[in-house]
Amino acid sequence: MNAEEDQAQQQVAHREFVHALQHEPIACHAVGCPGPVETSDLSQVRDRVKTFGLRCQRCGWEGRLTGREQLSPPWGEAALLSMAHEHLMHQQPSCPYDGTPVVFTSLPNPRRRARYRLSCFYCGRRAEMDWPPPEARQ
Ligand SMILES: [Zn+2]
Ligand SMILES: [Zn+2]
Repeated sequence: MNAEEDQAQQQVAHREFVHALQHEPIACHAVGCPGPVETSDLSQVRDRVKTFGLRCQRCGWEGRLTGREQLSPPWGEAALLSMAHEHLMHQQPSCPYDGTPVVFTSLPNPRRRARYRLSCFYCGRRAEMDWPPPEARQ
């Protein structure tokens, strides 16, 4: 397989990964099969990078989608603030490195302040921030 084909395959796999992450339908890889394909999240709670199992309920085709861990460089302050801002505006923030939708999880907060974890389940980057972010408090 040459580098271009490899890259094209990675793009398809990334698109399917995003569909799986957002619970959107994925097409069966068997030619002409209309599916439906069932997606299951095989990840453990602590996994930084998610793995999804795929199984076509019609023809039995099976597949697997996994992110590609890439933790450095980490998200910078500006990237974090812009993701926080998009979340506040009810838009879907995405990872600046790979375009994957970033998931916001609210964390238990011992200091009684709201705190969020931001996770990209494709590259495994993660960050935590107090909420609302400093910029939005003014
Ligand atoms: Zn099928
Ligand atoms: Zn990412």
